[in-house]
Amino acid sequence: MNAQTESTTDAQSPGQRANGVARPVIGFRSRILALVIGLLAMSQIAVMMAVLNTTSRSVSARAQDELSVGVRVFEELLTSRQQQLLGTAQVLSSDFGFKEAVATEDLATIESALLNHGGRIAADAVLLVSLNGVVTAATSSLESGKGFPFAALLDDAQRNGQATANVLLEGRPHQLVMVPVNAPVRIAWAAMGFLLDDRLAEDLQALTGLEVTFAAIGTDAEYLASTLTAADRVRLLAQIGDWPVEDGPAAQLNLADDSYFTQSTGLGGRNGQRITALLQTSRTEAMAPYYEVRNQLLLIAGLTLLLSLLGGTLMARGVTRPINTLVAAASRIAHGNYNSPVPRESEDELGTLANAFNQMQEGIAQREERIIHQAHHDVLTGLPNRSSIQQRLEHTLSGNRLTPLILILLDIARFKQINDTLGHATGDAVLLTVANRLQLVVEGRGIAARVGGNEFLVILEDQLRENAATAARSLLDSIALPVGLHDANIPLSLNAGIACFPDDGDAPETLMRRADVALHAAKREDAGQPFLYRSGDDERHLRQLQLLHDLRAAIDNDELVLEFQPKTSLADGRLVGAEALVRWNHPSLGRVAPDVFIPLAEQSGLIQPLTHWVLVNALAACAAWRQAGLRLPVAVNLSGLDVLDHRLPETVRGCLAAAGLPPDNLTLEVTESMLMRDAPLARTHLQQLRAVGARLAIDDFGTGYSSLAQLRQLPVDELKIDRSFVKSMTMDTGDAIIVRTIIQLAHSLNLKVVAEGVETREDWDLLREYGCETGQGFGIGRPMPAHAVDAWHKQWRQQPVPIKSPGDP
Ligand code: C2E
Ligand code: CA
Ligand code: CA
Repeated sequence: MNAQTESTTDAQSPGQRANGVARPVIGFRSRILALVIGLLAMSQIAVMMAVLNTTSRSVSARAQDELSVGVRVFEELLTSRQQQLLGTAQVLSSDFGFKEAVATEDLATIESALLNHGGRIAADAVLLVSLNGVVTAATSSLESGKGFPFAALLDDAQRNGQATANVLLEGRPHQLVMVPVNAPVRIAWAAMGFLLDDRLAEDLQALTGLEVTFAAIGTDAEYLASTLTAADRVRLLAQIGDWPVEDGPAAQLNLADDSYFTQSTGLGGRNGQRITALLQTSRTEAMAPYYEVRNQLLLIAGLTLLLSLLGGTLMARGVTRPINTLVAAASRIAHGNYNSPVPRESEDELGTLANAFNQMQEGIAQREERIIHQAHHDVLTGLPNRSSIQQRLEHTLSGNRLTPLILILLDIARFKQINDTLGHATGDAVLLTVANRLQLVVEGRGIAARVGGNEFLVILEDQLRENAATAARSLLDSIALPVGLHDANIPLSLNAGIACFPDDGDAPETLMRRADVALHAAKREDAGQPFLYRSGDDERHLRQLQLLHDLRAAIDNDELVLEFQPKTSLADGRLVGAEALVRWNHPSLGRVAPDVFIPLAEQSGLIQPLTHWVLVNALAACAAWRQAGLRLPVAVNLSGLDVLDHRLPETVRGCLAAAGLPPDNLTLEVTESMLMRDAPLARTHLQQLRAVGARLAIDDFGTGYSSLAQLRQLPVDELKIDRSFVKSMTMDTGDAIIVRTIIQLAHSLNLKVVAEGVETREDWDLLREYGCETGQGFGIGRPMPAHAVDAWHKQWRQQPVPIKSPGDP
């Protein structure tokens, strides 16, 4: 049992022992054993007690029976001895010599005859009693001449011719027989006494098998003749006073060496003196068979218990072994091993439990698989998710890999709009369609994953960087088809950024980041073309991210400043306006160009507060000049997003009112390309701005491919010819024609024309010749702080034409 306990415990890890998995099994086994052994022991004890009790009673009853039989035998022996003594006495009394001695009446002769004859028959006392009852001669201390003390005996003898009785002579019990002495007539009685002594007791013991004790109790009598040991005699004497001398029932008497079943039988006595015989049989001896039975029973019980302990242990082990197996299985399952089935060892409940364990195991394994799948896959599309594809990429790149890879990061353009206007269900359907198409296209060539809300990553195997753009292009072509949903076709446009292994990096994060940078660039370009990562993009991108982060603070912290660039009339050089251009003095990067941070502001939703800031400050400068007596309208650039913002008219109105300026002091410049993105909405909003009273100008004209028809519908006041045309106008006749055509076109639509990028006297002259009203450019004045305008103006008035020649810096 112990060994088993230990081996069970050893098989457990310390952790298991600590959480107590193994303990209940041992406890269970011990309890089974305790129950079996306990029940068995109880029943054994009960049976043993019943058997022993019955045995003990029957043994002691038999012993007592034997004792009573012994007592009857004893009594008969005693009686027959009296008869024998009587016979012996008669032989003596009829002896001639004795009769002659009696007849002589010579005392001395009689006495010697008595002694002589008494000695012959071994009598202890001999008496001669006269017919009238006087002791005439005696061998004992009874004095002759006195009356014979045993009158009843004498009477008896006179009546029956002879008599016998047990009497106390000199305090000692004797069997006394009386026979007549006839010569030939009766002349006297002869009485002979035989002492009840140890010898007699021993003789009787030999015949009856009992311990025999003769006792005389009472006044002046304390006599014991016995077969008992000396020590037992002493104990017996001490108790004998209390002993019922008359024939009593058998009782148990404890003496020094043994304890005895004892029965007494009264032998006679008188005058407070009693003669009694105690007959005893040893209890120990009598009970010997009982003890034997008891020992055998104990042996049997012990053996049975031992056997059942063995059997119980085996049985308990049989019960607990399958449980131990289950416990081991449970702890194995707890450690995540679901692959080893629990052996079914029996058809009983434990077998059923083993089955249940196996089912549970399978269930857990399936659920775990599902959870792992869910952790690695996108729920909506079922494609691997970001962490999963990253892991796979890591795995792929961790080996000594030589085959190239390309990573294409795709993003659904204007997905937010789809979600917002058509609902999330449609958004999900679009994502699902894209996922399915991607999977079909990529099948066998690589892998596709969904890595963000509307971002997908495709990894194509064995593709060189040279082929990357083509591969991505063909991928886009097969994906970016309209999505048909409930009889509506949703146009689908995708942006793609590409990074290649090993050219663009060999770490998964680097590759994924660079694909992301390329995707951002693609979105910025908005040309619908996949964008291949160029080295350095990363750093630029990081810088942009930093700028984006800092820009929020810049607006609030007055890191932005405005510069104003003068616009002058080409006809007479008069100052007619100033364009507000925003600058950012970054605390660590220095001056950041608006071309860099304006797109960032547009992407991050910061353009509205920025425009608001520009409006407020430009109008404040305008108001200040006005105060100083300079009527100088300001032009403020709007981003395309501003134009789409329906709150802008109200903002503009508020800013004008705050500055206390009439609305015609403000010109709003909107780029042509921006206007063309959502022409109808732009038109509505521009009309509202126009209603506020501000003038409107189309900026960068010539780069946006707008048609005359569209232009006609826009409520604008002036066109600004993009400086790229102006720049090459004097060298390139083609550009000169374009510039002249734009001016004519504008005039036909009743629009004023502003030429940007006037740098030289030639530019000025040619534009003036073409009939362009206004010029703006470095040749006239560079953008400058508001406070510098006055000084510039004073200087300009002295010579109101550009003095720089072509080629000057
Ligand atoms: P833009 O509206 O076309 O502004 C004119 C740009 O041309 C300015 O560059 C100006 O410095 C530059 N420029 C003027 N004359 C000449 C010239 O003779 N030669 C050359 N090479 N360049 C000349 P800047 O200040 O860097 O602004 C760039 C663009 O940033 C602006 O182009 C405009 O689109 C945008 N921008 C500037 N300020 C703001 C603003 O406050 N709000 C918005 N939405 N955009 C702004
Ligand atoms: Ca402008
Ligand atoms: Ca411009």
